Amino acid sequence: MSSLVGLDALLREFEERKMRALARAISWAESGRGAELIRHVYARAGRAMTIGLTGPPGVGKSTLSAAIVRKARSVGKTVGVISVDPSSPFSHGALLGDRIRLTEHFVDPDVFIRSMASRGHLGGVAGATADAALLMDAFGIDVILIETVGVGQSEIEIAELAQKTLVALQPGSGDSVQVLKAGIMEIADIFVVNKADHPMANQMRREIRSMMEMLHFTGWVPELVMTQALSGQGIDELWEAIAAHVAFLNETGEIEEKRREAFVHQVKQLALGELQHKLDRELEARADVGLDPYAAAERVLLEFGMHGHERYEHARPNRARATVKGL
Ligand code: GDP
Repeated sequence: MSSLVGLDALLREFEERKMRALARAISWAESGRGAELIRHVYARAGRAMTIGLTGPPGVGKSTLSAAIVRKARSVGKTVGVISVDPSSPFSHGALLGDRIRLTEHFVDPDVFIRSMASRGHLGGVAGATADAALLMDAFGIDVILIETVGVGQSEIEIAELAQKTLVALQPGSGDSVQVLKAGIMEIADIFVVNKADHPMANQMRREIRSMMEMLHFTGWVPELVMTQALSGQGIDELWEAIAAHVAFLNETGEIEEKRREAFVHQVKQLALGELQHKLDRELEARADVGLDPYAAAERVLLEFGMHGHERYEHARPNRARATVKGL
């Protein structure tokens, strides 16, 4: 029924910090109607700490989420959790059903839990997630946890929306090989070896340590924390590692860079979404008979006002966070 509620009424409730206004605001954004809303509340964002949590299914991410929420609440922080499954077009029901471990927090008015879909959002699920994080931030939530289901490329991208990324792994699963393969090493600010009660836990820790020894880090050196999410063991240490990373970001001024990256990322998602629509419409409506694909691409881009090869000149390489020693 959100369409029956006007923007003014929604903004008023948002300012009064009514949770249902936040829920509604995210739904608006999710379905592609977030622009005006975000224009109004944007100035209030920029205070929250955002944490990405990624790792293979079954590693214990939702158990870890619940434990992190518990810890954050115990030190008086308000918390938002965004569960993201980029492969699923469905939101609420299915995913939240799985997120049963968060149920203890459902009744806490200072914990806001949301699963994401991309219905109609210009920037897809990453765009919808970025909006949800921004809205939670503007709403005044202190800690925003973005939990993704796996370690594919889109999960990495979504986790990177956050100021810090926790990569969860479990012993005895061959995950460490996966870590290297998927390029996760470069995005992890904190490795969490969960299920530390497992007999292979120490071996896993050694494997990660020796992988890290092969790398030279330019700034933050990833921390490695052993946890037992079910019992809560190691969660204090994990929270300390998170705090150390926050301190590092603040002391080095890198927090500004992180905020800027998140901003640029979001702008890019939106602009790309717009361009994609425009391009699809344009290409459907025409037939570039006799043109080769390069010439046809050149022509349509020219029509969009993009001139020649200069477009490639300003491409900025990704900042390398870690390089292999000796290379
Ligand atoms: P997700 O798919 O990554 O979100 O994983 P879940 O949080 O759903 O956890 C998967 C399974 O691992 C569940 O049965 C949990 O109870 C179990 N689990 C989570 N943490 C631990 C732990 O520290 N030790 C053990 N032995 N099991 C755990």
